[in-house]
Amino acid sequence: MPWDRPAPERGGLPSAWSLFPEDLAALGCPGSALETFRRLHRPWTWQDGAPALGPGIRRWLEGVADLSLPRLVEQQPSEDGSTKLALELGDGKRIEAVHMPRRVRNPRVTYCVSSQVGCAMGCTFCATGSMGILRNLQAGEILGQVLALMAALGPDRGHELTLVFMGMGEPLHNLENLHRAIRLLCHESGLGLGKGRITVSTAGLVSGLEKLALMEPRPLLALSLNATTDEARSRTMPVNRVWNLARLREALDRWGLRRGEKFTFEYVLIAGENDTEADAERLADWLGDLRSAHNLNLIPLNEHDASTFRTPEEDRVQAFAQRLKARGCFVTVRRSRGRDIQGACGQLVKAPGLGRKDNEVGQERG
Ligand code: SF4
Repeated sequence: MPWDRPAPERGGLPSAWSLFPEDLAALGCPGSALETFRRLHRPWTWQDGAPALGPGIRRWLEGVADLSLPRLVEQQPSEDGSTKLALELGDGKRIEAVHMPRRVRNPRVTYCVSSQVGCAMGCTFCATGSMGILRNLQAGEILGQVLALMAALGPDRGHELTLVFMGMGEPLHNLENLHRAIRLLCHESGLGLGKGRITVSTAGLVSGLEKLALMEPRPLLALSLNATTDEARSRTMPVNRVWNLARLREALDRWGLRRGEKFTFEYVLIAGENDTEADAERLADWLGDLRSAHNLNLIPLNEHDASTFRTPEEDRVQAFAQRLKARGCFVTVRRSRGRDIQGACGQLVKAPGLGRKDNEVGQERG
C-alpha cells in the first residue's frame, strides 16, 4: 500500500527520537545510553530548542541517527484559547496538531496529534478524509511532533501532558509506528506518560483495535461512532462496510476494560442524518451494558467547505442529549475546541494557510 512506504530517512539514518536506550547502546553510545535517552526525550531540559548533549555525544549521535525534528511552521490561535498548529516533516509534508491548555486548576496541556499525513478512511463529513492518504508517520516523527510542540509551547513537565491521537489520520492504520511511539512516550526515563494520559481515537478499524487490545502499554480508546444503523454509518464512514456496528460492538466486548478505564464515544451530530430521537434510542441500545463505562461526546458538526452536511439546530442537539441521559448515558455536548480555526474533529487541513501547502492534496488518495 502506498502509504506504508517508509518516510525518507536523512542519509539512511534512523530518527534519534525512535530509539530506546538499548538501541542507543547497541549503536555504540560512548556515554550512558540511559542518560542520553533522558536528555533527548525531556524537552524541559533542552537549551535553545535542542537537547543539551555534550559535544562528544552530539557528534557521535549525528553520525548514527537523524536529529531533525518536525518544524513548527504555523500557529493559528482560536478565541477559545486553543491553537491550531502546522508542522513540516523532513520531506516537506505537513501535519497538524491542536494545542489545548487547561487553565482551570493546573497548568495541564492536551495536544491533539497526527498519526498519518492525510487519511485513507474517507469519512464523508471529514476534512482530513477528503485529502486522502499520503503516508504514515514513523515512530520518530510521532515522537518528534510531541517533543517539538512541547519545546515550543510547553508544558514544562511530562506529567502535565495529555495526548489524544485525533489529528490527521486513522492511528490504527499505522499501528506498529503508533505503538512504538506510545512505548517511547511512556518510558520512565523519557516523558514518562501514564498510559491513561494517551487516548487513541479510531473510526472503527476492528483489525487494529483487536491487536491494540493485547498490546502493552495499552492506551485509552475513543471511537468515532456517528451513526446508529449500518446503512447510515456505511454511507458516511466506509469502514463500516467491512466491520459493521455489531462486529464493532463485539470487538469492544473483547477489549476487556480494566478498573478505572472507560471508552470514549464521539458522535458528530449532522442535521437530518443522525440526529433523530430514534437515533438516540438506537445509540443507547447499542451501548447496552457499556452505559456505565463510557463517556459519550456529542459534537455538533463543524461545517466545512468540502462537505454539504450541516450542523443541527441547538434544540435538536439538546433533545438528542436529553433522550440519551434519560437512558442512563454519560453525555457531554462538546463544543469542539478550535472550532473557529477549523481545528476540531474532522476539521483539520481545510484552513486556507494550514496543512495543504506542500501536501499535493488528492494525488495519492487511498
Ligand atoms: S474522521 Fe478520522 S478516520 Fe475518518 S477520514 Fe477523518 S481523520 Fe480519517
